[in-house]
Amino acid sequence: MTRPNPALHRARIAYFSMEIALQPDIPTYSGGLGILAGDTMRSASDLELPMVFVTLVSRQGYLRQRIGADGGQIDDPDPWDPAAHARPLDAAVAVRIEGRTVWIRPWLYLHECPHGGCIPVILLDTRLEVNAPEDRAITDRLYGGDEALRLKQEIVLGIGGEAMLRALGLAIETWHMNEGHAALLALSLLRHIENGGDLLSPDRLEAVRERCVFTTHTPVEAGHDRFSYELVAEVLGDFIETGVLRRLAGEDMLNMTRLALSLSGWVNGVAARHAETARKMFPGYQIRAVTNGVHVPSWTHPAFAALFQTLAPEWGHDPQVLRRADRLPEAAVWAAHEQAKGELVEEVRRRTGVALRMDLPIMAFARRMTGYKRPDLLFSDIGRLRAIVREQPFQLLIAGKAHPRDEGGKAFIRSLHGMAAELADALPVVFLAGYDMSLARIMVAGADVWLNTPLPPLEASGTSGMKAALNGVPHLSVLDGWWVEAWEEGITGWAIGEDRDDPASHAGALYAKLEGQVLPLWHRDRPGWIRLMRQVIARTGSCFHSQGMMRRYATEAYLR
Ligand SMILES: *Cc1c(COP(=O)(O)O)cnc(C)c1O
Repeated sequence: MTRPNPALHRARIAYFSMEIALQPDIPTYSGGLGILAGDTMRSASDLELPMVFVTLVSRQGYLRQRIGADGGQIDDPDPWDPAAHARPLDAAVAVRIEGRTVWIRPWLYLHECPHGGCIPVILLDTRLEVNAPEDRAITDRLYGGDEALRLKQEIVLGIGGEAMLRALGLAIETWHMNEGHAALLALSLLRHIENGGDLLSPDRLEAVRERCVFTTHTPVEAGHDRFSYELVAEVLGDFIETGVLRRLAGEDMLNMTRLALSLSGWVNGVAARHAETARKMFPGYQIRAVTNGVHVPSWTHPAFAALFQTLAPEWGHDPQVLRRADRLPEAAVWAAHEQAKGELVEEVRRRTGVALRMDLPIMAFARRMTGYKRPDLLFSDIGRLRAIVREQPFQLLIAGKAHPRDEGGKAFIRSLHGMAAELADALPVVFLAGYDMSLARIMVAGADVWLNTPLPPLEASGTSGMKAALNGVPHLSVLDGWWVEAWEEGITGWAIGEDRDDPASHAGALYAKLEGQVLPLWHRDRPGWIRLMRQVIARTGSCFHSQGMMRRYATEAYLR
């Protein structure tokens, strides 16, 4: 028998996510979605919410990025040992996949709460002797493999995860699906609810919706999982009648977002602008907005943490007190920044041998390498870029992984390496391989400017600019996602272009802003720059945190 675990048994809210960044040395995440789930967990813990988190164990991680001689990405597996960080629980459930029984065992990872107690995370694992060899691999590699494997992973997460929490005897009242990957859990609830009537009876549907919360994250069409009903029939079998599924998830294809929308009573996008876009993509559903936030103590450099401590000792728990950051002594802010920047410069030297300069600004661009993030926007006009750097020099740091099957993203990485070589005599461009939580921490603290160039309206929220803001690093960004809410020109950073303008004008707008505003302030008005840094903390840092985000989910979505 499993020893009863008090943290587990107090859980009333279950949060399901395909990826969660549990801690820097556990690679069970790919990028922003997983980091957000991790920050959600960290704030749930600070606020002592009665939550349990559910994800796959992803023993082989997502991908460990190396750069080959041709500048191309090589993606290796990124294995970790669950036994070193979690303990197996004495429970097992089975799901049916392609007509076979697939057993799932849970690992229990505990995230320690600062005030005592802890938040439990269930890691689902199919690597068991009893399973067929192909089924053992289902939970090995996050987003690895083809469509069929993706569907199998979603069956383990949604159907297996729901069954697991029941097998563990948890009394879950609210089920939160972080993105559509977990939507099959709502189908399980639909089958299990003791309410009589057929599966599509209004009472039964209403009973499921009362319990389900859904957060959609993706304004990119390709970001929504869709499976053909042939594949679904093969893999999922007769778990649920196809007619019912078509009614809930789309006539032609099983659309996981639509399934989650149909079965959730509370739905949100992750920024005001994103909710607006999502309403257009899925008319007829009420889609609210809860803007993402970041976990403040996790992303604040220790030197800034020490300054915040002098402002208000409760800053980590109540980050809104950071609005007083505009009183911090200018010299102390600059000293903290120089310390963080020195550490970044040292990390770049250690990893690449390149010596960046402390007396020139570092502009950083770190995000998933994919088309809509436009990693090449800054290089649209090399002549113009050279002219700017000649007058007002700066240095550029780039990092980010491409999804293993995103050939376009991989091509960006190769071409960025080509660009760096071409510009070597004028502008230092350094690509740091292996962007992850640890590297992100160093970059968001040590950069001078945080650059963001998505193609609107495709950036759902974005969060790395919020992390930078906690360290006084201003954001230079296209108006999309969270930045529409945080932007105050020259006070929290700068906009590239205007709201809802023609994206073809963004390269020109970026050069103009760099040349006319950003670089002159850095090079010629240091006191002005430091006052800007303080405003960034006071206005952005105090507002866009996961503490506030979780207070909203708790009061508006969970306690509804
Ligand atoms: C914060 C973070 C992201 C998300 O950043 P965006 O601003 O949403 O692009 C991705 N990866 C890592 C490692 C991060 O820390």
